Amino acid sequence: MKRFEDKVVVVTGAASGIGKEIAHAFAAQGARVAIADLKKDAAEAAAAEIVALGGVAMGLEMDVSDEAAVNAGVDAAHAVYGRIDILVSNAGIQIVHPVHEFPFDQWKKMLAVHLDGAFLTTKACLKYMYAANAGSVVYIGSVHSKEASPLKAAYVTAKHGLLGLARVVAKEGAKHNVRANVVCPGFVRTPLVEKQIPEQAKELGISEAEVVRNVMLRETVDCEFTSMEDVAEAVMYFAGANSNALTGQSLIVSHGWFME
Ligand code: NAD
Repeated sequence: MKRFEDKVVVVTGAASGIGKEIAHAFAAQGARVAIADLKKDAAEAAAAEIVALGGVAMGLEMDVSDEAAVNAGVDAAHAVYGRIDILVSNAGIQIVHPVHEFPFDQWKKMLAVHLDGAFLTTKACLKYMYAANAGSVVYIGSVHSKEASPLKAAYVTAKHGLLGLARVVAKEGAKHNVRANVVCPGFVRTPLVEKQIPEQAKELGISEAEVVRNVMLRETVDCEFTSMEDVAEAVMYFAGANSNALTGQSLIVSHGWFME
């Protein structure tokens, strides 16, 4: 019996990067996976990769900041698979500016994707989890849920906010046997981070190599990026917990960048 045999997992932002790895990890452990992402083609292509490996997956077109799209996507996953056991709220973007120059529309976009997205997908999935009296929500936070960096006001604010949302969902969900936790990765070399390296080099006036060595990895214990597999393992650890002993928590997976 595999670890998540027949469980149904919705992973947002799973056409790329960390979300895609999480979807593969759950599928390899027997779960049926709904891959939600902005573009239908990309979501379906990511699902097809899992199916080609012998797993069960479907692609969903979903902008997590759009309530109607979220509800339609989660309902479609439930209609196909008959249950929603686990939500991994992962979709995210990055926009960097100093606070005094941060364009308001970009600030709002960041909070919409990260916070509205987490709230809307949680709300849509809780309906089914409460009815089944079981469920687990895992938010992908960041070391920036605990720590600040220059230029990342919107990201840091949103990622800190996820801790609050998870704690409330943990308190409200307990009587329905629903848990909520946050995984907080350090820098993982995904498209989101690749995009930031030249942007930060420009903003900070240093080379790309210096951004990696002196900004991104400076505080780690070994100057290493966190791997997508490390993040997926932590997500499965929370998702597989079978009592309310492990709820309302956050786990930092960052090569020691941030310790608490
Ligand atoms: P990525 O850019 O590789 O993947 C993000 C995915 O989210 C993409 O497929 C994108 O299409 C999707 N997405 C973006 N906006 C969306 C929306 N409105 N609705 C639905 N899907 C949307 O990024 P990643 O590095 O894999 O990041 C995934 C998550 O991990 C994010 O929440 C990010 O903040 C977090 N994170 C990343 C790192 C890192 O170093 N890469 C570190 C800590 C936390």
